[in-house]
Amino acid sequence: MELDKMDENDWKYHGEGNKSLVVSHVQLSRVLRLLKYPAEDSENPPQTAEQAFSQIQTIVDFSSNVMCSLLGDKFVHSGEVVKLPLEFVRQLSIKIQHHRPVWRCDKVMDIYSGCALCLPNLTSPLLHSPTRTPPLCIEIKPKCGFLPTSKHISKDIKTKVCRYCMHQHYKVSNGKWKRHSLYCPLDLFSGNRQRMHFAIRHLIEEPQNNFKVFKGGQCVYSSKEVSDESPDTNALLHHLRPYFLSTNNRVSSHMTSKSILNDFIQVLVNALLSGGGDGDEGQVTDRQGERRGFCQASHFNRERIRHGSQGLPSDSVLFRILQTQMLDSLDIEGLYPLYRQLEQHLQDFPKERTRLQIDGPYNETFLEKVQKWTMEDNGSVEFAAAKVHQYRFAMTAKDCSLMVTLVSSEEEEEDDEDLPPQRHVCRPHPFSSSVSILDLDPKPFDSISRQLRLDQKIVSCYLKTSGALP
Ligand code: ATP
Ligand code: ZN
Ligand code: MG
Ligand code: MG
Repeated sequence: MELDKMDENDWKYHGEGNKSLVVSHVQLSRVLRLLKYPAEDSENPPQTAEQAFSQIQTIVDFSSNVMCSLLGDKFVHSGEVVKLPLEFVRQLSIKIQHHRPVWRCDKVMDIYSGCALCLPNLTSPLLHSPTRTPPLCIEIKPKCGFLPTSKHISKDIKTKVCRYCMHQHYKVSNGKWKRHSLYCPLDLFSGNRQRMHFAIRHLIEEPQNNFKVFKGGQCVYSSKEVSDESPDTNALLHHLRPYFLSTNNRVSSHMTSKSILNDFIQVLVNALLSGGGDGDEGQVTDRQGERRGFCQASHFNRERIRHGSQGLPSDSVLFRILQTQMLDSLDIEGLYPLYRQLEQHLQDFPKERTRLQIDGPYNETFLEKVQKWTMEDNGSVEFAAAKVHQYRFAMTAKDCSLMVTLVSSEEEEEDDEDLPPQRHVCRPHPFSSSVSILDLDPKPFDSISRQLRLDQKIVSCYLKTSGALP
């Protein structure tokens, strides 16, 4: 990829979130992630090109020096900042505009700075050869997987119903979504196969922002918009069918939709419980799993559990994400007073902002410094700053996505003949899998006041509506 000879015809629209828009290269396994601005600012960008460059550099540093250590470097790809020709960016923005979902068009792509983050394309890994079935990639935005236990919590309901399930009520009441999702993150993070299966089934039924499927780099299943119609699971089944035929001695035409879906979910659960694709599966499991327990709003029937929970293997991607989320140990209610203390201190001594690295730099020594400062709860401003930093790491982990890549490995199956038969029971389908984590941006310092207000709104809405809604 030569940066001075960029051609918009080599790139196509790939997807977008709230903060950035992603285009993928038509041949190379590369994506460009560009910033987005509110549409009303489209004439005059909110920041200069230098500021945009440094914002993206900060994302790279945060990902490589903080999130990489917390989540494991085998799961994280931090990428690099690139400076693109402005003419290319302008042509690109025109080219992709009509592929964008209408409900995302309240923001526009940054066409002024020419800066972007260049990343490997996690939905079309290089190993994919044109003669074989293209890789299947499943993106899951799992959200927060534990119930808070902080003594600072004022509303008991927060220790019984998880944040995601309460937030669902809020979003449905406000019309953000038309239907409730029955996905509960506590089921996904439980490590219990039945509960995980249940969670993924409900992600498929109501994907909202939390579930997408890509085939050969192309998004083939997602929640298109806020519509009255349910997403078309038959279309998903149509894509899945070829991957799940002719295994397990089943006659292909007899494979019902239900069994295809079940097999697909089982392969996903296996991938999520494995150690990240390098084969050395972890022995140590997360014994806290059972204690973290259930969300009262989950529709999973506990009496259905046939096997006790093993918890999450300690080298699994879900375990690493959960551990990072749990750096939010005080809950927003316990953190907020520390945030206020810090804010006051920074007003009195503005130069302290640099020493406490409030807005970075997220260099190599940053994480160590934060960890050292949290050792002692001595009322110091360093302690307050470190807890605020840790809370922000947790927010990033509550908002990230994971990408599971499944590659059919017919060849591998032939080799399997030498293996003991139980191997086939564990792996009904010959897939090799790998897992990555994406979307690891640092959350802004001043988003913390907003978090407190949002928390209060979500809880009071839940207390008002939970009796009336399913
Ligand atoms: P959010 O609103 O969740 O914060 P965001 O604006 O921060 O999202 P991303 O989640 O990073 O943006 O990217 C938007 C989408 O682009 C992702 O959901 C994913 O489908 C796709 N995407 C992002 N990075 C990659 C990548 N490296 N490879 C393949 N697809 C990617
Ligand atoms: Zn829940
Ligand atoms: Mg995202
Ligand atoms: Mg994001």
